[in-house]
Amino acid sequence: MKAIAVVPGTREVRLIEQEAPPVTAPTHVKLRMLDVGVCGTDREICAFQYGIPPEGTEHLVIGHESLGEVVEVGPAVTRLKQGDLVVPMVRRPCAHDDCAACRAGRQDFCFTGDFSERGIKNLHGFMTEFVVDDERYMHVVPRALRDVAVLVEPLTIAEKALIEVDQVQQRLPWDCQHHQTCHRAVVIGAGPVGLLGAMALVARGFDTSVYSRELAPNPKADLVASIGAHYFSAQNTTLEQLAEQVGNIDLVYEATGASAIAFQMMKVLGTNGIFVFTGVPGRKAPIEVDTDVIMRNLVLKNQVVFGTVNAGMEAFQAAIRDVALFQGRWPSAVRALITGRYPVEAHRDLLVGPAQGIKNVLSFA
Ligand code: BGC
Repeated sequence: MKAIAVVPGTREVRLIEQEAPPVTAPTHVKLRMLDVGVCGTDREICAFQYGIPPEGTEHLVIGHESLGEVVEVGPAVTRLKQGDLVVPMVRRPCAHDDCAACRAGRQDFCFTGDFSERGIKNLHGFMTEFVVDDERYMHVVPRALRDVAVLVEPLTIAEKALIEVDQVQQRLPWDCQHHQTCHRAVVIGAGPVGLLGAMALVARGFDTSVYSRELAPNPKADLVASIGAHYFSAQNTTLEQLAEQVGNIDLVYEATGASAIAFQMMKVLGTNGIFVFTGVPGRKAPIEVDTDVIMRNLVLKNQVVFGTVNAGMEAFQAAIRDVALFQGRWPSAVRALITGRYPVEAHRDLLVGPAQGIKNVLSFA
């Protein structure tokens, strides 16, 4: 079968042929891959800045945002059957007995760092024709979501963040979830993680603004307007102007990995505000940051800053529910997120060519 792999040793990205994986355990499920999304992480792996092949192999099959169809199940599989559409999770637990997170099935919080991630770290990924894995890592999606379910995995990043935002907002001594006093959000970045995050925020009643580089009008700004959020360009709106327009910024959801702008944004975070980082920046030269202002604000305004990576079961379930909800509420915006579907042969342009569009998808079926 075909697979798209990187070979870090020789700095190659190529289409390879390898044996299809067999079902070898009673709880194994075999998927025929349908769609695999291309994300910033894949592009970084293809630029050899990230990504580790499985032990003993020189290559890593990439791809972690996916949708597959069940073609075979082991005898002990109870939740899945042939023909089901499935989105597999990405991270697998470490083996350490004392890792409370992994032992609780929450490898997204792994303490040891010895977790593995399919298509990213120590395990082959999903940019291939067939995949086998344990049923516990698979989430069934309704057939009606066939064309958009590849968005589930990138949406899980926002879903995990919002579960945590709910928990943090519970420290406020009133029913914040049903008040409009803590529902003004700014999303930094209009890539897929930012736009999906904006949709999730609007769906939860947040007055949402997206702050991004490009001047409006542009397709991303149109998409933002079509879901009832506001678009601001960094080229003609300063952070102070943004804060003036928004009012008390209750939540900043960072989705670019651009650390300089993120730390500047921290200065305009509002009273009782939460700042969530989801991006993973490349290493650049250090910059100057106004730490006194940031620290004063953190204390005097009761602010919380946290980072979040990967996602657990409940975030996958929430993402599947939300993709269905977005599809019903904003069908053309959801369609516009997927800017192109390409055959496997087009992988090179998408992975190492100039970044283009919003979410590009490789179709294996
Ligand atoms: C993936 C996550 C993963 C993270 C770090 C992201 O692109 O969506 O599942 O944990 O990269 O490797």
